[in-house]
Amino acid sequence: PSGGLSRGPDKGLRGRHQAVLPDWLALYYADPLELTHGEGRHVWDADGNKYLDFFGGILTTMTAHALPEVTKAVSEQAGRINHSSTLYLNRPMVDLAERIAALSGIPDARVFFTTSGTEANDTALLLATAYRRSNQILAMRNSYHGRSFSSVGITGNKGWSPTSLSPLQTLYVHGGVRTRGPYAHLDDAEFIAACVADLEDLLGHVRAPAALIAEPVQGVGGFTSPPDGLYAAFREVLQERGILWIADEVQTGWGRTGDHFWGWQAHAQNGPPDILTFAKGIGNGMSIGGVVARAEIMNCLDSNSISTFGGTQVTMAAGLANLTYLLEHDLQGNARRVGGPLIERLRAVAAQLPGVREVRGRGLMVGVELVQPGTDLADPDAAAAVLEAAREEGLLIGKGGGHSTSVLRIAPPLSLTAAEAEGGAAMLERALRRGLRKGG
Ligand code: PMP
Repeated sequence: PSGGLSRGPDKGLRGRHQAVLPDWLALYYADPLELTHGEGRHVWDADGNKYLDFFGGILTTMTAHALPEVTKAVSEQAGRINHSSTLYLNRPMVDLAERIAALSGIPDARVFFTTSGTEANDTALLLATAYRRSNQILAMRNSYHGRSFSSVGITGNKGWSPTSLSPLQTLYVHGGVRTRGPYAHLDDAEFIAACVADLEDLLGHVRAPAALIAEPVQGVGGFTSPPDGLYAAFREVLQERGILWIADEVQTGWGRTGDHFWGWQAHAQNGPPDILTFAKGIGNGMSIGGVVARAEIMNCLDSNSISTFGGTQVTMAAGLANLTYLLEHDLQGNARRVGGPLIERLRAVAAQLPGVREVRGRGLMVGVELVQPGTDLADPDAAAAVLEAAREEGLLIGKGGGHSTSVLRIAPPLSLTAAEAEGGAAMLERALRRGLRKGG
């Protein structure tokens, strides 16, 4: 074994991590993992243990670990040139921008590359507030949009919003969470009507918000599942008042949800969003984020604005190779074909376990919400115990949720095979049976 994980008096890598990095940089597991390499849907730790990866590094591994096509494109480009994407023409950036513009569904689309989802949302806020001359933003309860000064100010998930001194005035709208509270027992149409009424009520009391920002399926919030058409119903109300719709597709983009390439397409009746933000998976681990908006909105800034590292040639080469692989292998279709039976399989397991409130999701974005048996109360201890048990089974999963972290999150690389899905479901079933007992 190498890697120096904390197993004895020598604090090793974990101790060094704790000594030099911020306390709020949270790690999974009582004995944190050091991953040393990956291949396909599997990763290995420093002790040589192999895991099936059902979380893909918070959805950053979009297609597969160490995808040869991406590795080749990155190393070839790194051997040629890699520097700031500004000042000079950049062929891979233009190539990728053209492809994303065409895929976005937004007419007259312009694309701006950033280095992260946070920076993408920051840019969307810059555009929306400048375009509308308003610093009021509508955001969803339990949302997560990033860690910058402006994006924490629109993050409704208070566990991820470390300061309230935001430059924005934010108003939170219902619609993200359906499993508890007064909205829990409504059917889809009633839920949409209640959320629209809430939005209209808010809009009766404020001047002229710039935009509504929403994740089509909340990621950090626990892979919530709003009914199809919720955001289309919101859009109708927003459009009457000129308020923009920003879709944060950082987790839901690139076919993750199976039925759609973008999450917003489940809410498309009243057209595409005005602004779309993306990040995570497109670079398959390389830092690419970005914003797509109609030219009229993108061009509303009247001074220069650059992101020095946004769109560097190496990251763009990775994005192009990764996107090409995704499209040529129909990984969106794979997410639908493999994800559907996986969700059904986990629902069958959940039916036998009173500690599981709900298995929800679409495609390869699956949430398993845990509760204290016989109640509606969230069970974060059980979620932590199942996460540990899954690791012992050889399965990496994630967790999330609103006010408490009680939802297991499953988001494997989109090339997951049916056999791997079944193997992972069996490991998760064992982990649930062990972890739920331990967690109470
Ligand atoms: N938006 C969403 C929906 C996210 O899930 C995240 C990251 N978890 C972000 C924005 C921020 O992205 P990044 O961490 O790349 O800044």
